[in-house]
Amino acid sequence: MDNLRTFASLRGRLTFILIMLVLSACALVAGIALSVVEQEGRDSIGSQQFSLLSAAAEHLAADIDNKRMLLRTLAEGVVGGGVPAREEVQGLLERHAALRSQFDSVVVLDHGGRIVAGVLRKGRPALGEQRYDDRRYFRATLAQRRGVISEPVISKVTGKPLVVITEPVLDAQGRVVYILGGSIRLDHSSFFAKIRNLNPGERGYLFALTADGMILHHPNTARLLRNVRTEAGTPVPATLKALGGWEGWAQATAKNGTPAILTYKRMRGTGWIIGSVYPTEEAFHGIHIARETAWVDTAVVALLAGLAGWYLLRMVLSPLHQLRQAVAEVELGQRGIDAFDFKRDDEIGALARAFHSLSLKRRAAEVELARMAMTDALTGLRNRRSLDEALGAAYERVKRTRSTLAVAFLDIDHFKRINDTWGHETGDLVLQEFARRLTRAVRVTDAVFRLAGDEFVIIFEFADPAQGLDVAAAKVVQAMHAPFVIGGRELSVTTSMGVAAAHWNETDPKRIMAAADEALYEAKGAGRDRYQLRYPPARSLAPGIEAG
Ligand code: GH3
Ligand code: MG
Repeated sequence: MDNLRTFASLRGRLTFILIMLVLSACALVAGIALSVVEQEGRDSIGSQQFSLLSAAAEHLAADIDNKRMLLRTLAEGVVGGGVPAREEVQGLLERHAALRSQFDSVVVLDHGGRIVAGVLRKGRPALGEQRYDDRRYFRATLAQRRGVISEPVISKVTGKPLVVITEPVLDAQGRVVYILGGSIRLDHSSFFAKIRNLNPGERGYLFALTADGMILHHPNTARLLRNVRTEAGTPVPATLKALGGWEGWAQATAKNGTPAILTYKRMRGTGWIIGSVYPTEEAFHGIHIARETAWVDTAVVALLAGLAGWYLLRMVLSPLHQLRQAVAEVELGQRGIDAFDFKRDDEIGALARAFHSLSLKRRAAEVELARMAMTDALTGLRNRRSLDEALGAAYERVKRTRSTLAVAFLDIDHFKRINDTWGHETGDLVLQEFARRLTRAVRVTDAVFRLAGDEFVIIFEFADPAQGLDVAAAKVVQAMHAPFVIGGRELSVTTSMGVAAAHWNETDPKRIMAAADEALYEAKGAGRDRYQLRYPPARSLAPGIEAG
């Protein structure tokens, strides 16, 4: 709850805004910086991959050159002085130790495609069992009389995929005597194993395709010898592009669905394509970490800024806080409006002064309202509500001093007639003049009220009403005898008055008013323009004074 209030406070909101501003500024800067870094990183990883791959392609091309050269040297050595016999050829092969390290097997085929001699990496192949005259590379070598590199084929002996490099053995007349065939296995290939350490990252890999798109090398050996254009699934567009002659790198999705950096390089000589797949997640691992770190840093900076902002705002807004507290205390009546008397030259000082002046005005308005509530608007005398209060207070005073309570009830005689004859406005002016004379006729300590219509009340403050109550009453009746000059006309106005007085222990406000009312009734009955005194029946206060 308290937290909620804090958040809803001005300081809370300003801090929130500050945090948001810092957060978005940092996020913007970090975002831009990161995207630049990412772009740069991607470019550098891509070109790094491409140059690695170029090195690998060159390495393999040189290896193939070596192998061909080895076969050529051998071919040239076979025909020394005529066509050698099988055993001789076999012996020659056996003596060339390099053959075993360069090829998985080397065979010598005769015209009919039968194996005349051969060596395996370990051991010797069975002779004469298989014929290779159906192989395209065999026929091409025979026809062209020069060595070729075969398309990938399945070995007739082992059933394993392989590529064969051929070299014809020519006699002095240039006729093909034998055909040398060195095979390179494609699965568990020692040939491609040479570039294995160039595999990008942990999960990245290299692959190789023929110029036609047949898979020569791939970690998934089930895909060997398949053509990327025709195998199941959609071909990778970048691969198709590479088959079309393009070299380079692209950020794309590999065949297995992994987003990766795909790089392609065509090999010199064979026209094979060496490719690499470097999963993006791994390639950009560093960049991802940088990104996460940047976001965390951004959040931390924003939070720190928020904290600093919180404390700064707390300092800056503390006068506002004091002002708010002052308002609360003034509202609760715990402090006077001088609580707003801030000696400051800033906006808060101005605000406090505005509060101060508003409070002064409000207080004056309250006093005025209270006065209006207690005042009769026509005559300016105190009204009935004020009478109830004043009578109660007078009664308390009388009880305290054990003295006498005395009130007079007055009513203008035949006032209706005045109204009817001269109009209501004249009647009002008569009431005002009546009130003036009444006020002047009594002592300043006596209180005069207009009750309603033409009815008035006086509360006398007498220490002893027996002395002078009748004199005071007579004075009031007398005060009305001079003609009322209203609007140039002289009007005769008289009043009847009932006066009641009683000891403190023999009356109360209600009873004394009733007694005064009765006395007024009597005065009216007795002919008006007079007063009637009434004392409690039990005891006469002033014997001899009964009527005026
Ligand atoms: P009585 O001698 O018996 O008192 O006769 P009266 O005509 O004065 O009768 P009463 O006191 O009952 O009538 C009071 C009249 O005062 C009735 C009403 O029309 C009039 N009145 C009451 N309030 C006002 C006022 O504010 N202004 C004026 N002009 N007349 C008022
Ligand atoms: Mg009257």
